[in-house]
Amino acid sequence: MKKILITGAAGFLGSHLCDRFLNEGYYVIGMDNFITGDQKNIEHLNNNPNFQFIKHDVTEFVKIEGTLDYILHFASPASPIDYLKIPIQTLKVGSLGTHNLLGLAKAKKARILIASTSEVYGDPLVHPQSEDYYGNVNAIGPRGVYDEAKRFMESITMAYHRFHGLETRIVRIFNTYGPRMRLNDGRVIPAFMGQALRGEDLTVFGDGSQTRSFCYVDDQVEGIYRLLLSDYSYPINIGNPHEITINDFAKEIVKLTGTNQKIVYKELPVDDPMQRQPDISLAKKILNWEPKITREKGLQATYNYFKSLTKEELCRSEHKKFENHIRK
Ligand code: NAD
Ligand code: UDP
Repeated sequence: MKKILITGAAGFLGSHLCDRFLNEGYYVIGMDNFITGDQKNIEHLNNNPNFQFIKHDVTEFVKIEGTLDYILHFASPASPIDYLKIPIQTLKVGSLGTHNLLGLAKAKKARILIASTSEVYGDPLVHPQSEDYYGNVNAIGPRGVYDEAKRFMESITMAYHRFHGLETRIVRIFNTYGPRMRLNDGRVIPAFMGQALRGEDLTVFGDGSQTRSFCYVDDQVEGIYRLLLSDYSYPINIGNPHEITINDFAKEIVKLTGTNQKIVYKELPVDDPMQRQPDISLAKKILNWEPKITREKGLQATYNYFKSLTKEELCRSEHKKFENHIRK
């Protein structure tokens, strides 16, 4: 039985990856410190004999007993309001955390895949974004803590690959959504759906002309799974190229939820990228992968999930949980 360590296991993507690898017959070790994750995302795995959970902050030395075949490093705050609230932890998990996991991979002779992001392209001057574009990132802006941590992460991963001959994989994830996202994490899909469910206005930032391209989680997990098992060591974009302005997207959510909410406009956050669309030619060629799930279908599944939350969960303020970590 192959053994895989998944960091960020209690988060949105990490928990779906745990499910996928368990379904594929792997022994899964999940690791998380819950800074932005939730125990609820993995509680269905509590009695699974092939799943083990370790509560640990990966910026500290990571110790795993026995053999290990694969590592997926997904621990990191991922939403702009998260990494603005916990900037140092964001930098540390991308840098020190990645260094620890690369060291572990080297010691265990394991293959490691790291979760990079479309944010390495910053506010892109090239459209759509292909892997050979070096990006347009403001290192010292508020988003820089995330973008630069991820760029460092890619850099140190390639160094371990070149210098130590480690088997490494790098996925550049474009906006991905689905069940188990935190309702109040500030990302646009949970934000709009939460607002619709609470009867609040939908808040569009800026004039809403900025674009994004949203990928449903099952498609993303399939891409990551194929990349891990491929022999390709350079970064690959995984995302859905179907691009939409945030304005049109807000209208789509109003229609989907049938809630007739008003759309109001708020200030655009600093360095908010104006356009984003993955060029997925490489993923098609190397992994024979492309997304299959339409936005209509994916959004409906996500909305059904949010509708199933309790009233308490719907109205909970998220940021109290950070205070404990910040005081440490
Ligand atoms: P998430 O916040 O739901 O999950 C991240 C998980 O990492 C959380 O459970 C959190 O508690 C854990 N974590 C953070 N710091 C840690 C530390 N020091 N030690 C141990 N655990 C720690 O976010 P997500 O959307 O699931 O994102 C997962 C990964 O994918 C991140 O690396 C993110 O940068 C990347 N990514 C996601 C998207 C997306 O659209 N969802 C896009 C690009 C990249
Ligand atoms: N956004 C918005 N209203 C919200 C939350 C986000 O208009 O309540 C916008 C945000 O400014 C950005 C886009 O939606 O242009 C996507 O934001 P998200 O935080 O989901 O992801 P990212 O900016 O990292 O792509």
